[in-house]
Amino acid sequence: MSTFSDTTAGTTARPIDLTAPSGIDRAAHHRLDEAWLAAAWSHPTTRVFVVSGGQALIDDTPDGRTELVMTPAFEAPLTETHRYFLGTDEEGVSYFALQKDTLPGRMDQSARAAGLREAGLLLSPRDAGLLVHAVALENWQRMHRFCSRCGERTKIAAAGHVRRCPACGAEHYPRTDPAVIMLVTDEQDRALLGRQMHWPEGRFSTLAGFVEPGESIEQAVVREVWEEAGVRVGAVEYVASQPWPFPSSLMLGFMARAVSSEINVDGEEIHEARWFSREELQAAFESGEVVPPSGISIAARLVELWYGQPLPKPVV
Ligand SMILES: [Zn+2]
Repeated sequence: MSTFSDTTAGTTARPIDLTAPSGIDRAAHHRLDEAWLAAAWSHPTTRVFVVSGGQALIDDTPDGRTELVMTPAFEAPLTETHRYFLGTDEEGVSYFALQKDTLPGRMDQSARAAGLREAGLLLSPRDAGLLVHAVALENWQRMHRFCSRCGERTKIAAAGHVRRCPACGAEHYPRTDPAVIMLVTDEQDRALLGRQMHWPEGRFSTLAGFVEPGESIEQAVVREVWEEAGVRVGAVEYVASQPWPFPSSLMLGFMARAVSSEINVDGEEIHEARWFSREELQAAFESGEVVPPSGISIAARLVELWYGQPLPKPVV
């Protein structure tokens, strides 16, 4: 029987999408320095992209990569847009995102609008990191236009990372809502996978849920598994995290060991849950009975850590 340590070995060797180091220094100390920001904005090496509704333009390069479409700042007019300073790279290049109501026109045929779910699978860790930062800021700005203390309209500050209230002086910072996502295994090393009612036919994945006020993340893992599947969990081991700005979550990934095996789904969040051995899951993949979790979600990576090999690509 494999241990958690065996199961999680290799997490550093195989980065999980949206968790890999981006190579970008967020350089937060520059956010309040208007003179520095102005100089960085007008510097010829500075790169700018537009984010709108969670999307940005991406394009394929001649050598087969996909990258964010970025321009020098002088090609990106600031009119009626919000400017987010995202950081600098090792060469000293500064990166900004402009939040606009619409994306700019496509510069060539292959450029296309994409959200994180698509782009996160294609972009380099640097570009994926820049986009996830910009999308998270955009989502927060969109939903926090008014002061939660006094109700007045707030103003953007700190290069997109603060909203200030002119009436009561409150400063509001970007929200990140912690959520736990866990692969539960039993003493036979079978994995507990569940499906939600609205998911595509056959899709099974890990259980997940939000951390509640006054709760540790370990307690949240135990509670969510009990609520959703009626299974008791003992040992809980953290694996990795993933920003998930849909709209503002941080997914905290765990391996968890069950101490009971009877399943009793809640019928609301989770419609069906089953224990799978590796052999059973492989057979279910091959027969098409089970569709693996897909895309950029950490769920697929947690299942892979236990499964021991890459999951088959789902047939769409
Ligand atoms: Zn206020």
